[in-house]
Amino acid sequence: MAKQKSISLNHSPEEELAHPDIENVLFSREQINHRVIEMSDTITSDYQTLGATELTIVGITNGAVVFVSDLLRGVRLHTRFDTVRVTSYYDYDSPVALPKILAQGKLRLDGKHVLLVDDILDTGNTLSLLRKTLLAQNPVSLRTCVLLDKKSRRVTPFEAEYVGFDLPDVFVVGYGLDYAERYRNLPYIGTLKIERRDTSSWDD
Ligand code: 5GP
Ligand code: MG
Repeated sequence: MAKQKSISLNHSPEEELAHPDIENVLFSREQINHRVIEMSDTITSDYQTLGATELTIVGITNGAVVFVSDLLRGVRLHTRFDTVRVTSYYDYDSPVALPKILAQGKLRLDGKHVLLVDDILDTGNTLSLLRKTLLAQNPVSLRTCVLLDKKSRRVTPFEAEYVGFDLPDVFVVGYGLDYAERYRNLPYIGTLKIERRDTSSWDD
């Protein structure tokens, strides 16, 4: 019989720091896991208090994919799951990125309790746009949940009902968050070394 290889999924903090492009780890794998379980528990009990037995979770791709998949597995209600795809682009006249919906979800939301999930709440433009779009479908309730909140960066007033961690005005990668599409697969969240922010230097 073939001998099974043992695979360790528990990286030590030292191993996590080992990624050569990461300057600082701000939230470790353990901190994130712990907080996401807390958030799932809070969401479960809040909706139970509301008398809701079913929750429709809508994740914003690509950034929220890792967070929402962990969150989803911690929620102890009947769930429906969908995604909307949003991109942010820079308009000539605007100093900030403007969001554009590339693909709508396919589930109907009328009469449903809906939880919209994103990775980061930054200027507030993305969630404001999506809140407006989803409310037009007449859900019974619509709340938002983000892992990270950069409150100081708000351009459009917006508050999420569920926030994992507050973050100052720093650019972060990992746990679904990218820089030029890299680093989404890191199990922790951190800042990028300054020399890696210039993609023209990427030859690997
Ligand atoms: P908002 O519309 O609130 O300005 O933007 C939210 C989106 O901007 C997030 O969903 C995320 O994709 C992106 N974003 C904002 N801050 C960061 C960051 O520090 N790192 C990364 N990778 N993306 C960010
Ligand atoms: Mg995003």
